[in-house]
Amino acid sequence: MTVSAIVGVNWGDEGKGRMVDLIAEDYDVVIRYQGGNNAGHTVVNEYGKFALHLLPSGIFRQNVVNVLGNGTVIDPQALCGEIKNVTDKGPVIGPENLKISDRAIIVFPYHRDLDELEEARLKDAKFGSTKRGIAPVYSDKYQKKAIQMGELRDMAKLRKRLEGIVEWKNLTLKNIYNAKTYTVDELMAWLEEWGTPLLPHICDTGILLREAEKAGKSILFEAQLGALRDIDFGIYPFTSSSSPIAAYAPIGSGAPWLKIDSVIGVVKAYSTCVGEGPFTAEWFGEDAEKLREAGAEYGAATGRPRRVGPVDIVATRYGARMQAATCIALTKLDILSYMDEIPVCTQYELNGELTDEFPFPANLAEAKPVIKTVPGWKTDISGVRKYEDLPQACRDYIEYLEKEIGCPITYVSVGAERDAIIVRD
Ligand code: GDP
Repeated sequence: MTVSAIVGVNWGDEGKGRMVDLIAEDYDVVIRYQGGNNAGHTVVNEYGKFALHLLPSGIFRQNVVNVLGNGTVIDPQALCGEIKNVTDKGPVIGPENLKISDRAIIVFPYHRDLDELEEARLKDAKFGSTKRGIAPVYSDKYQKKAIQMGELRDMAKLRKRLEGIVEWKNLTLKNIYNAKTYTVDELMAWLEEWGTPLLPHICDTGILLREAEKAGKSILFEAQLGALRDIDFGIYPFTSSSSPIAAYAPIGSGAPWLKIDSVIGVVKAYSTCVGEGPFTAEWFGEDAEKLREAGAEYGAATGRPRRVGPVDIVATRYGARMQAATCIALTKLDILSYMDEIPVCTQYELNGELTDEFPFPANLAEAKPVIKTVPGWKTDISGVRKYEDLPQACRDYIEYLEKEIGCPITYVSVGAERDAIIVRD
């Protein structure tokens, strides 16, 4: 039995989905332990190209049980839509291969509305939310005014709880935003339509994982965002509302007793960031445009152009430590092949001093990147499958990053396809 985690080291979109899709073959259970349908994992495989928002990326592998843990928030309408999109292309999804924690929280239409209304109210000071209701629903979870998926088992009881919540919610919608309010009837009808079909998937994932552990099964945790978006350790307040940190994975899955054997930290060979917030090594203008085009850096969930820049060693070293990464998967290295020289952010300058430490979030906006360049390789590497076949300059770049991050780079990804990977021994 092995327990592993695949997590993001940076701002998200590092290529976690691609790595889970590759590695899921060796695991029996793949679990999403936080977040909702606000992120998108792109997976390219024999069925086609998919942007997964809620479904774990192990969903394409036969015999893998995929789990949405108690740390997740689920919009049943969005999940039903995603299941349809995937099954339309061939893969089978049923109660045997998709399990939903009875403790996962339901995202209601009013959560989406509140997200949208608040972003509109903030105008230029907006956070760059994906408007899927994620921050409002996590707020409700911690205010204890949310509904758990398992409550769908008894609609009469659920209705009673919802009555109190809707009365409270409508006060905010009406008095603060002057917006559309909801009736309990319409929300119950919405739950009947989208929640009830999910009932066969709902279970106590703690029991499921205990049984899996007893049977010696291998378990893989899949994070949905990067370390720098973690609610505690990220670039607060420009973070997500949950914890994509590997240490949270057993908790968000229903099995807080599980010990993780290995953590694969996914790092992109350059930096990208979606949404607002400080992004120290950011590029603008022509250089940024070129890199964005080369890497097709547009958000999987929203289509928004991603902000881009060179790899950031300060942020990556911090992210790898927060994730307790035992090895690194370096992705999208093929994208850098057009560059004569590869820029790297090696340190930050803050208040006139150089630092290797990732700053306190409120000070991050004042940090300036210290950039050095290393030689490029100017060769198409997308067909390479053996480390020793990579150009020397490319290997030098990998080994330089490895030394600076302080963690072995075990996987090097040179394309989006499942087999476009170099595994170092
Ligand atoms: P995730 O949310 O961390 O799974 O990342 P995204 O799916 O948002 O973004 C990663 C993007 O890069 C996807 O479009 C992948 O298909 C693509 N991708 C992943 N690894 C590689 C790689 O090594 N090379 C290239 N060219 N594309 C990659």
